Amino acid sequence: MKTDFEISKEAHILPIEEIAKKLGVDMNYVEAYGKYKAKIDPKAIKEKENSKLILVTAITPTPAGEGKSTVTIGLTDGLNRIGKFTVAALREPSLGPVFGIKGGACGGGYAQVIPMEDINLHFTGDLHAITTANNLLMALIDNHIEKGNELRIDEREVKVRRVMDINDRALRNIVVGLGGRNMGYPREDHFMITVASEVMAALCLANSLMDLKERLGNIVFADNMDKEPLYVRDLGAEGAMAVVLKDAIKPNLVQTLENNPAIIHGGPFANIAHGCNSVLATKMALSIGDYVVTEAGFGSDLGAEKFMDIKMRLSGLKPDLTVVVVTIRALKMHGGVEKDHLSEENLDALKVGFANAKRHIENMQKFGVPVTVAINVFKDDTEKEIELLKEMVREVGVEATECRGFEKGSVGTTDLAKVVVETIENNKSDFKPIYPLELSIEEKIEKIAKEIYRAKGVNFTAEAKRKLKYMKEHGFSNLPVCIAKTQYSFSDNPKALNAPEDFEITVRDLNLSNGAGFVVALTGDIMTMPGLAKVPAALKMDIDSDGNIVGLF
Ligand code: ADP
Repeated sequence: MKTDFEISKEAHILPIEEIAKKLGVDMNYVEAYGKYKAKIDPKAIKEKENSKLILVTAITPTPAGEGKSTVTIGLTDGLNRIGKFTVAALREPSLGPVFGIKGGACGGGYAQVIPMEDINLHFTGDLHAITTANNLLMALIDNHIEKGNELRIDEREVKVRRVMDINDRALRNIVVGLGGRNMGYPREDHFMITVASEVMAALCLANSLMDLKERLGNIVFADNMDKEPLYVRDLGAEGAMAVVLKDAIKPNLVQTLENNPAIIHGGPFANIAHGCNSVLATKMALSIGDYVVTEAGFGSDLGAEKFMDIKMRLSGLKPDLTVVVVTIRALKMHGGVEKDHLSEENLDALKVGFANAKRHIENMQKFGVPVTVAINVFKDDTEKEIELLKEMVREVGVEATECRGFEKGSVGTTDLAKVVVETIENNKSDFKPIYPLELSIEEKIEKIAKEIYRAKGVNFTAEAKRKLKYMKEHGFSNLPVCIAKTQYSFSDNPKALNAPEDFEITVRDLNLSNGAGFVVALTGDIMTMPGLAKVPAALKMDIDSDGNIVGLF
């Protein structure tokens, strides 16, 4: 089979103005970035009733691959094919995974968004703008300390970090301000990947540029010497940061291989941040399409839980359907099969590994939103395996439909599209978050751990308890909670596959993201700056004198 990049190059791509015209938005709000990309001013968002919002989520990821983006894009094309005007709303890729291991985030096979080389690389520069806004704040903090430190910033308690959009483990722990007088005050600092930053999360949850500015001003960047929180607005940095982000806040328009509209905007990681595309992009898509298909990162315990409890709650939006993506390969891996043997039929392992899918499906039902399952079919899946999986899903009271968008594009997803439409039409969504905001932060964490991860209980380290006290004392207890956890397990142990039971979760620390509007509870060893593998994807990439790229997946 051709590579994703080869398939994308063969597509009949339309000028972006033609896609924009299909949307019916005022062309004065459409700003072309080259021939095939555009930004749309949020002013174009208008009231539209009865658009349906579909969330695509998945089982616990394994190296075998799940394909949420592939299903999201395939389903968008399938819905359009059956005559339902549908817009995809996706996250934008980070360069870290593009040059690292995971790869891009434009879907795969015949279910892709294009131009994938642009979207995967610099796109319209949003991530660079976020990096710059964040690092502008850092420069202003260190400059403030150097120039007399009027705010009495405690240099040991600076809570924000420098960022860049490349995996670079050497920058995880650094010292800045070395070199003597006039070089600043030396202090320990750290780099994170841009998509882990609070600026990214704030941009994704903002309702307008002014709302973003307010959120940036609300970021607690440090404590003062009296252990009181210092806000970015105390430093007066939010105006300049918002200036840097004035275009990054505008959602980006591209197209699928089948020339259907896709709005791609914002991309916080789902293990360390809230993992959803921007609220503005989702609202824009809902103001255009009759159906909107969006996705949230990693498994449903991370991305979908945060989509529901953070993004939906804070934006006032309500989902109409949740699609859980399941692959036979991944379930067999959860059932104990080694990666090298996934191509062999194994009904017993599938039965064992189904416990993982079952837990994800049941969890999603707890939000009051109808659920359906998409089986993302891989070439080695056997008929017997597909039938067994469908049967097991039906026993949980949910429909399971094959999705063959990767292999066939929209022709392979019309069945799923029909089931999606029928499920929405026949089932009322009665969305409710899993916890009320009035609970204490400990109670909220416990609720997620018990209801979604199915943990027995939660332990808080001494450091976590200290932070809980700080949050309570300073009035941050009413914020929703964003749990930073490994994506590879329901538990905080990445090796505990399938549906682990009888485990406890340990919260080792808490970070306040007051600008974004949530509290981050850190479990396990979650890295906010990934490293590169022994042979990173970057080493396979090249470009020739005509600008042809090779090695981009
Ligand atoms: P996610 O959004 O869950 O991270 P992606 O949609 O990005 O997953 O897919 C991950 C990888 O798996 C991509 O390289 C994609 O091309 C590949 N992939 C997805 N679905 C299939 C499939 N049905 N057959 C083969 N490869 C697939």
